[in-house]
Amino acid sequence: TKKGSQHYIDLEDAHGAHNYHPLPVVLERGDGVYVWDVEGKRYYDFLSAYSAVNQGHCHPSIVNAMSQQAQTLTLTSRAFHNDKLGVYEKYMTEYFGFDKVLPMNTGAEAVETAIKIARKWAYEKKGVAEHEAKIIVAENNFHGRTTTIISFSNDEVARKNFGPYTPGFIKIPYDDTAALEKALQEDNVAGFLVEPIQGEAGVYTPDDDYMRASQELCEKYNALFIADEIQTGIARTGALLAVCGKCDCAGHCEKQQATYAQPDVLILGKALSGGAYPVSAVLANNEIMNVIKPGQHGSTFGGNPVAAVVGMAALDVVKDEKLAQNARELGNYFRARINEYIETTDTVTLVRGRGLLNAIVINDTEEGDTAWNICLKLRDNGLLAKPTHGNIIRFAPPLVMTKEQLDACIDIIIKTLKSF
Ligand code: PLP
Repeated sequence: TKKGSQHYIDLEDAHGAHNYHPLPVVLERGDGVYVWDVEGKRYYDFLSAYSAVNQGHCHPSIVNAMSQQAQTLTLTSRAFHNDKLGVYEKYMTEYFGFDKVLPMNTGAEAVETAIKIARKWAYEKKGVAEHEAKIIVAENNFHGRTTTIISFSNDEVARKNFGPYTPGFIKIPYDDTAALEKALQEDNVAGFLVEPIQGEAGVYTPDDDYMRASQELCEKYNALFIADEIQTGIARTGALLAVCGKCDCAGHCEKQQATYAQPDVLILGKALSGGAYPVSAVLANNEIMNVIKPGQHGSTFGGNPVAAVVGMAALDVVKDEKLAQNARELGNYFRARINEYIETTDTVTLVRGRGLLNAIVINDTEEGDTAWNICLKLRDNGLLAKPTHGNIIRFAPPLVMTKEQLDACIDIIIKTLKSF
């Protein structure tokens, strides 16, 4: 017999580590912008697994590529070649405009990979003394959960009692080019690792020119500009990459826009697979990537043939369905409608974001429970979203959403907010 939601919640509670605090809803099926719970209730997904499901749930061409490959060859390890990896690497490097790609699985692994590449580049190309390399990072960053990555977080929940921490990081305020220039003048700087929009911190959206200015400063001081586009990349913010600023290239970038910035090292994950499979990647040109030699870095599953075909299928969808353009148009419309509502209320103080990566700030303290209660009510009204940092609610639906669906979602959001 079929069990209800509480059964599955109790199982997780009893047998799983308590490292998450999920919204109480148990999902069993997804299709496009929708998910269904075990009771059969349908919801709009307004989180997209933290922007991994940009192409919509169970996109048929991604699922088809995955299942075909899963029946043919799943894993060789990199001890041997396979007939999909090289094809994928050619596809990826042409798609994003870099010489080389290094395939990994999760976002945090790709960030670790970028850190290792940057340090090695600093020692071998820039002449930094051994063990002295420093990487500049931004306050309130989120780059993942490994020991090294949490070492340069300033989120005490993520850090406390996980030390000793990895040294070699300089923290500066986000969206502050003067602070960046000052830090770049220190000795032994390998690079600047930054999110084009700080997603986990609450969708903090910097000045339109921040990325380009950062790139120019890194170039001036011979440091690598390392963009973590794990959450912002792959059409989410209305351009193929968020470093493109307002450029609507959708994979056909001609680099004409004033806000365009080309990172030296680009980190991707999440939507690189459309949420079907863990696929992440680091891209860079030869003079940087070639510092990595056989035996110096790797992963059993990185670059496996299932990941390779899933990655290509997921990126085909982004181009074929013009997801960047859709995200950009719907994002402008979403913020306009929410802003109209904000004029009339004290519950929400602002909406911010770019493309379909947005957040609203609730008029409550970070410790308050209003945002959580709003998310419970949104769930009851058929839409799933989650607070980030207490009083901020992120809104990031799949990018395959139509204008009619978005209108229905905004109606749910405003109706819900009006009840608070
Ligand atoms: N970097 C950014 C900007 C992210 O948003 C995330 C995940 O939320 C990560 C890195 C870590 O990715 P993963 O959870 O796949 O390790």
